[in-house]
Amino acid sequence: MKTPSRLVLATRNPGKVGEFRHATADLGLTLLTPGDFPNAPEVDEDRDTLAGNAEKKARSLFDHTGLPSLADDTGLEVDALGGRPGVYSARYAGEDCTPADNRAKMLAELDGVTSRSARFRTVLAYIDESGTSYTFDGVCEGTILTEERGVGGFGYDAIFQPAGYTETFAELSKDEKNRISHRGKAVARFVTWLTADSS
Ligand code: IMP
Repeated sequence: MKTPSRLVLATRNPGKVGEFRHATADLGLTLLTPGDFPNAPEVDEDRDTLAGNAEKKARSLFDHTGLPSLADDTGLEVDALGGRPGVYSARYAGEDCTPADNRAKMLAELDGVTSRSARFRTVLAYIDESGTSYTFDGVCEGTILTEERGVGGFGYDAIFQPAGYTETFAELSKDEKNRISHRGKAVARFVTWLTADSS
């Protein structure tokens, strides 16, 4: 059994914290965040891959706390944009942009475009107590709508409709989003690995 008693989650995003808390609720571990540690480092997400950014975030927190650390990096890949914004999704509309700016820019860039397929991709990086790094990924296919719908979730949720659904991520319950989302799938893989008998 590899499940630690405490694990630090390398994010300050309340939406992500809620999703992780929900997905790991049955593990009996205490989930901590950078806010629980004075002077926890801010990490510049300057790598050009999701795995690179996730590993950088998890490593930085592991070095600071000495505790097993978990980080994710997520990108939205839009086929009509050649896979952009991908790893640059957070700063798609500019350096200090808001999630609303990003959604507005995407709707504007896709104005008049009929082929609107896209996918969210998450890479999770986990650094265990010995400092060894592991990665887990998850993908959710869908389409970008022509206008925002729904008030739940965060980021691009209000313009992303997962394949097989008539609702956007922002219209689904937390449970339902976790069940089908990129991050939910990556976390499920992580939890399966964590709880697998290692003997
Ligand atoms: P990061 O992984 O926090 O760097 O996220 C990159 C960008 O994707 C940010 O703009 C987030 O708001 C957005 N994002 C990450 N995960 C999700 C999600 O589950 N739904 C919608 N947007 C997301």
